[in-house]
Formats: sequence, structure tokens, C-alpha cells
Amino acid sequence: MEQILWPNQAKCAVMFTFDLDGDTTWISGNRDYANGDKFIRSTSIGQYGPNRGVYTILNLLAKYHVPATFFVPGKIAETYPEVIRQIDAEGHEIGHHGYTHERFFDKTVKEQIEIIEKSQKIYTDIIGKPASGFRTPSGDWSVETPYLLHQMGFSYSSSMRGDDRPYRTILNEVETDFIEVPTRWELDDYVATAYNMFPAEPVGQDRIAGYKGVLDNFKREFDGYYRFGLCCVFMMHPQVSGTPGRSQLLEKLLQHVTAYQDVWCARGEEVANWWRTTYPKEKV
Ligand SMILES: [Zn+2]
Repeated sequence: MEQILWPNQAKCAVMFTFDLDGDTTWISGNRDYANGDKFIRSTSIGQYGPNRGVYTILNLLAKYHVPATFFVPGKIAETYPEVIRQIDAEGHEIGHHGYTHERFFDKTVKEQIEIIEKSQKIYTDIIGKPASGFRTPSGDWSVETPYLLHQMGFSYSSSMRGDDRPYRTILNEVETDFIEVPTRWELDDYVATAYNMFPAEPVGQDRIAGYKGVLDNFKREFDGYYRFGLCCVFMMHPQVSGTPGRSQLLEKLLQHVTAYQDVWCARGEEVANWWRTTYPKEKV
């Protein structure tokens, strides 16, 4: 495989991304149960993210000088504007993550446009600019979604799983300037360590996984991306990785990654811009 070029001869790129979902995911999940709107204990797990976890994570990112990307549902931005202002002021990027973390695949085009515009206005009201990146909330987007995002001026998405490098999204069989920066489940803290008694998270309830093993997995994943010169996109959640014990797992991972001088830690927008200018469209 051809060696990928990264800025300043870096060997690989790493993105630390945090989905600041707050209670939106719990509220929508609880709807599947009778009286689910009364499950306030589970929603409080989500609220830990913007109330507590995010500050722990911001402190760690500052300590290790790592710029990150936070994908935030519009409703959470609206509820916690001071958190959004602080994330932005500390040099991190705010990305679009729906309004209430809604699924896009069963929405009409009109509904999708409304959701996208509604959150863009909220980000703009708080930090003076809309998001240029998008991460699809709760599973898949619809066939129209990437077309809409591209038309509506988004620079990139970080939603798919099918590669370990960024790529140009193909729309109508043509490579576009809309960049996908994929992530993978093995780089997601939710998969390994999120937990709730009821409603069950994970379904079947067979963990929390041992933190030593989880840290070892994350380090080995990074080592693989480093070895092959790829783009490693960690996908974490302040409600998960911002807790006292798990934040130390994150800290050890930050130490491991930042010990390398030739690793490019970047925000999504920077990675997408780099890819767009470094790898021009294929000539047809
Ligand atoms: Zn999310």
C-alpha cells in the first residue's frame, strides 16, 4: 500500500473525538419501554457528560496539548451553552451530531434539512460559526444524507466504518470534496465500558470490561495505525471516559500517543482539509 503523506512528515494521524450526547441517547432509548419517560436514573448517566465528564476531559486535553473534536447534538449545545463556549475557547472543534441524536435513516429529506439547520443555528448563536463536520447519530444515515451535507456546505463526516484512512465521498458515482474520516468500533469507549443496569446497556449485560485490557486494546490499535501510517479516530463519550477511573485510562492513552514526536494529533476539520488538498480527485 502506498504510504500516506501527513503534515510535517508525521507517520500517522490521530483524532480524539468525543460525542457529547448528554441524555439524548438515553431519552430516545427509554422510549422503547412503558413509562420510559420516568427513567430518570438512566438519563442522569448521560447528564454526567456535560455536567462533569467533559471538564475532566478538557483538563486532560489541555495537559497533553491535544486538540480534539466534540460532536454535540444541538439540544445539548442549547442546554449547556457555556460548555460549548469553553470547548471552542480551548481550541477544540464542535461538530454536528443531530438535534436530539435522532436517527436519520427514517427521516424525510425535509426533516433532515430541518434538523441540520436547527443545530447549525444553535452552534452559530453560541460560538459564532456553524459546524463543518458531521457525525451521524444513532446508526445509519439515509441515502440522501451525504448529498444534503455536501450541498449544505459541510466539509466532512466521521460516520462510516469501512476504512482506516479518510476518503472522498462518492456521490452520483463521482468523487466529491466531501471527505469521510471513518472511525471503528474497536476505537469506541462505549463498546468496551458503557454500562447501565436497566434498560440494559449492553443488552445481555456481560461487562464492564477490565480497564487494563481496554487500555491495552486502544494502545495496540494506535500502534497498528502508527505502523501502517493511517488515520486513527478514537470515538469517546464524556459520560463514559470522563468518569474518575476511566479518565485515567484516557490519560494513559494520551501519554502513549503523545510520547511520539511524529504523530499528527488533529481536529476533524484539519484532517479533512489536509486530505482534500493533498489527495486531489482522480481524473476520470
Ligand atoms: Zn452520539
